[in-house]
Amino acid sequence: MTGSSDARTVELGDRLAAVRRRLDAAVESAGRPAGSCELLVVTKFFPADDVRRLLQLGERAFGESREPEAGRKVASVLRDWELGDWESPDPDDVPVFDMIGSVQSKKARSVARWARAVHSVDRPKVVDALERAAAAALDDGERADRLGILLQVSLDGDPQRGGVVEADLTSLAEQVVDAHSLRLRGLMVIAPLHGDPAHWMAETARVHEAFRVRFDDAAELSAGMSGDMEAAVAAGSTCVRVGTAIMGERPLVSQ
Ligand SMILES: *Cc1c(COP(=O)(O)O)cnc(C)c1O
Repeated sequence: MTGSSDARTVELGDRLAAVRRRLDAAVESAGRPAGSCELLVVTKFFPADDVRRLLQLGERAFGESREPEAGRKVASVLRDWELGDWESPDPDDVPVFDMIGSVQSKKARSVARWARAVHSVDRPKVVDALERAAAAALDDGERADRLGILLQVSLDGDPQRGGVVEADLTSLAEQVVDAHSLRLRGLMVIAPLHGDPAHWMAETARVHEAFRVRFDDAAELSAGMSGDMEAAVAAGSTCVRVGTAIMGERPLVSQ
């Protein structure tokens, strides 16, 4: 295991502290209670040792986006966690990992083994695959709770970036509600790169408000990344997904 004072741990600690300050300030200036927005540290493309460093720094919630990289990394980190190689491992304070990338049906079984929630669900076929996968994982004792589901909403209808269009959102949400091994938790948004960012955040808030009225048990909103977390918190985000501002530039890896 890495020492708590290696250069990379110091670097991660500094950037993490800066992001935590930004997040706390955004929550406060939105007039919201402290701690009302979760920080998911996006560790995709970075090694398991970086996740271990972040655990040492006190972080417990991580976002991953690709299989099989994610499953291997999570298994490696949790193996160490269970061995108790930590200063004060609290059994109730276990690390959690969310899937934030798109899920192919054939990877659903693997994702259901390790993910607390999937943030990127956008079509009926993926809901079916995740329901079957989560049911099997519950049966096999690989997970204790239903798989959390956030529906990714497309604000501009661009099929390249994924997401369900608003017109199809309710029927997709009903499908998740009816799935016994899934738990609908809310919505996820990635703001389009074109157009006015303030417009997209206003749209995010509007779609989220309407959704919460209909699905009051699924009030979460996963929105905001390194560049737009303040605006997302102002729009009601309950979970920001921050990679670059903490981890640094991602290494370029071909698919
Ligand atoms: C990579 C990724 C992030 C993190 O983005 P940064 O700009 O590096 O903070 C957030 N959300 C999703 C869905 C991602 O794929």
